Amino acid sequence: MENFDVIVVGGGPAGMIAAGHAAEYGRRVLLLEKNPTPGKKLELSGGGRCNITNGEFDTREFLANYGEYAKFLFSPFSRFAARDTFELFENLGLSLYISEDRKRAFPETDRSIDVNRALQNYMKIHDVQCRFSTSVQGLLVENGKVTGVQTLEGPLRSESVILATGGTAYPETGSTGEAFQWLEQIGHTIVKATPDIVPLKVKEQWVKDLSGTSLDPMRITFTAKDGTSIFRQGKILFTHFGISGPLILNSAHEVKKLLKQGPVSAVIDLFPKLEFNEIDRKILAAFDENKNKIVRNVTKILVPTGMAKTLNANLPDDLLDKKVNIVTQEERKQLARTIKGLPLTITATMGYDWAVVCDGGIPLEEVDTKTMASRLHPNVFITGDMLNISRPSGGFSLQLCWTTGYVAGGNA
Ligand SMILES: Cc1cc2nc3c(=O)[nH]c(=O)nc-3n(C[C@H](O)[C@H](O)[C@H](O)COP(=O)(O)OP(=O)(O)OC[C@H]3O[C@@H](n4cnc5c(N)ncnc54)[C@H](O)[C@@H]3O)c2cc1C
Repeated sequence: MENFDVIVVGGGPAGMIAAGHAAEYGRRVLLLEKNPTPGKKLELSGGGRCNITNGEFDTREFLANYGEYAKFLFSPFSRFAARDTFELFENLGLSLYISEDRKRAFPETDRSIDVNRALQNYMKIHDVQCRFSTSVQGLLVENGKVTGVQTLEGPLRSESVILATGGTAYPETGSTGEAFQWLEQIGHTIVKATPDIVPLKVKEQWVKDLSGTSLDPMRITFTAKDGTSIFRQGKILFTHFGISGPLILNSAHEVKKLLKQGPVSAVIDLFPKLEFNEIDRKILAAFDENKNKIVRNVTKILVPTGMAKTLNANLPDDLLDKKVNIVTQEERKQLARTIKGLPLTITATMGYDWAVVCDGGIPLEEVDTKTMASRLHPNVFITGDMLNISRPSGGFSLQLCWTTGYVAGGNA
């Protein structure tokens, strides 16, 4: 049976950095990836640009993005944080830059394929053996101890196993979640996964008719059946199925909780910066200038480009067909209320196939985050998307891969 010091399962960002770093210590490292090429999800990241990390170099500030999980992450981030990511890729010949948009960091080439190449180069420089199109079937366990992995070609032995098989979002990239069962079989708890950074499905047709339109700033308020509500302000992207864009993706974690009670009512305020009476004055001024027109033909002056049809779809015909000079004060208020509260219904998230990440996975309580070793099996290391950590978009997922992969590789 073939023998290695370290076997890494999964050739995504966490696995590649773990393998490269373990090999820097002179260990004999084998990386196994079931796809014919590594980094399939990485290449999709950031719309092909790869938002590789976040340019927030104050680690406390950075960790605040992980909420309740931050307390587990101080230790690994003290070993490898955002600045180290910059340095590692710089040393591999790929400079990074920080964009003005929420300090998101990207490779200077704006191409995720270059990040993937740099990681493959990192493994090559340090003599990592890679076997692609090799699917791991399970862990090799002898007398209660993990001694390697099972593949279709037979068992492979190693002192340590680093698991980097990803979560369950976007399964077409290879992250299908079978490693969670292997860990369950050796005593770990699995927190059920749910799509996290994910677009939202909407019932109303008018939203779908606006597909491709994005408006900034808007305010959206989500309200659950029991009246609990949350609001967010920023850019909303309308799509053929509902709503998306960073604001919505980052709200999904909270909206998901409201959806447990059934469909969530939402309203969009088209002018969050204007008070109700200011909107009313805006309407009065528009009516004044268009005395002989009907309401239907004046609404385009009142709302952002492309939104008049939507506004009209949410108003009764008897109001729309009225001449503006006979609109009552109550009807004007109705118009203002609709401008500040376009109603829509969120029916679900778009699910695993559309999720950027999922929460769920191995609870951090079961991992020694100083080393990323399992607390139940100290020679098994757990990294990247396999860990149960909620986070927003903005480079915070990939930084988790760099940090946990590097720390696991250094300790395996
Ligand atoms: C569309 C999209 C865009 C994204 N954009 C960003 C972004 O810009 N910034 C950001 O920070 N994050 C982004 N993310 C999230 C980020 O890509 C993930 O957090 C990251 O890829 C997780 O890395 P990983 O190494 O843990 O797992 P993965 O990248 O999922 O890699 C796991 C690997 O393990 C392999 N594998 C699984 N099971 C087996 C097995 N049994 N045997 C052998 N191999 C196996 C898989 O084939 C896969 O290659 C995005 C995600 C998506 C889906």
